[in-house]
Amino acid sequence: MRVGIGYDSHRFADGGGRKLILGGVEIPHPQGLAGHSDADVVAHALTDAILGAAALGDIGGMFPETDPRWKDCSSLYLLDEAYRAVRARGLALAQCDLTVIAERPRLAPHVAEMRRKLATVLLVDPGVVSIKGKTNEGMGWIGRGEGIAAIAVALLE
Ligand code: MG
Repeated sequence: MRVGIGYDSHRFADGGGRKLILGGVEIPHPQGLAGHSDADVVAHALTDAILGAAALGDIGGMFPETDPRWKDCSSLYLLDEAYRAVRARGLALAQCDLTVIAERPRLAPHVAEMRRKLATVLLVDPGVVSIKGKTNEGMGWIGRGEGIAAIAVALLE
């Protein structure tokens, strides 16, 4: 058994025009997150946890922001690519647990769909993928609604 941790954060983009994508789900919200890919902070934290458990580096090393291939790319695709590399090492996901910290929007209505989307990419039952949404109680940059952060732990076997 091997355990990995992942953390990611993205700021909200200035102005409109960006979709808010979390865990592969498009969430209705006036602002999207800024980033080179679709800025899916949930998928990014999980990708780093899985890569970390396999000691395969991190998402930035595997998919550099300087590479135009990943511009506006779906982060589910990045997760899929990373997990292929992990499986090629003879490892498979046993379980993962995520906390998403956002003052808004409210995440609870979207958690089930996020779990389904991520589980499909990871070839597991949604029961293996846990996601919890939290606010930051109004404190700091998350509390001011400047961005969203996510923490993930993944267990590989
Ligand atoms: Mg990221």
